[in-house]
Amino acid sequence: MQPLLKALFDLLLPSFCLACEKPLGSLPELLFCKDCLKRLRFIRSPLCPCCGRVYLVAPSGDHHCGACLAKPRHFTRARALFLYEEPLKKVVHRFKYQGKTACLPSFTRFAKNLPQVAELGEVERPDLIVPVPLHPSRLRERGFNQALLLARAFFPKDRRVTADLLVRLRPTEPQTNFNGAARRTNLKNAFGIVKPHRLTGKKILLIDDVFTTGTTVNECAMVLKKAGAAEVMVLTLARVKEDY
Ligand SMILES: [Zn+2]
Ligand SMILES: [Zn+2]
Repeated sequence: MQPLLKALFDLLLPSFCLACEKPLGSLPELLFCKDCLKRLRFIRSPLCPCCGRVYLVAPSGDHHCGACLAKPRHFTRARALFLYEEPLKKVVHRFKYQGKTACLPSFTRFAKNLPQVAELGEVERPDLIVPVPLHPSRLRERGFNQALLLARAFFPKDRRVTADLLVRLRPTEPQTNFNGAARRTNLKNAFGIVKPHRLTGKKILLIDDVFTTGTTVNECAMVLKKAGAAEVMVLTLARVKEDY
């Protein structure tokens, strides 16, 4: 952009940090101030090679976590960009519940530079990139599906992004209202497939906003595989950290 034009832009459209809302001087590449940027934690090894659980305490090499060993998942690999903690949590809340989508171009820039996105999107060569769907009633209420917007932000102009295969058959309570087995019951028979022939033998990359226990993506992966998908992998914006 021309310097003069950029100066004009900065004047007309001042930018603010997505997390602390401090004004940012010149139109920056990432809409985070230096302090908030420093506090964002990117996910990296050591982690569980299956569910992507991060080992923050007494780190050793990558190894399967207890949950994955006890009960194999329907997906082969789940990865996330960030740990789900402040200051990112605030940004995700504003995005999901207040419709503030200004964060998306910054997520695109992060995604471009993070190895886990290239690993799942390019190296693994999924045939389809599928966002976790919302029920039409929730979609009407919110106006957008955050998982679809994230899929497009992580993989801009990628024709593999497909939002009309996996659907939510019935409205469900937010998963945050439940723990453990109740999370699975809440999602039982909640997802379905339209046009299953498009899934046969396909490798799917499932996209969601936050990986908490993985119940939602696991349920989606099960439905996708039952319908004929060869493999399901998962990429989320953030992952809840478990301390142990
Ligand atoms: Zn800030
Ligand atoms: Zn695991």
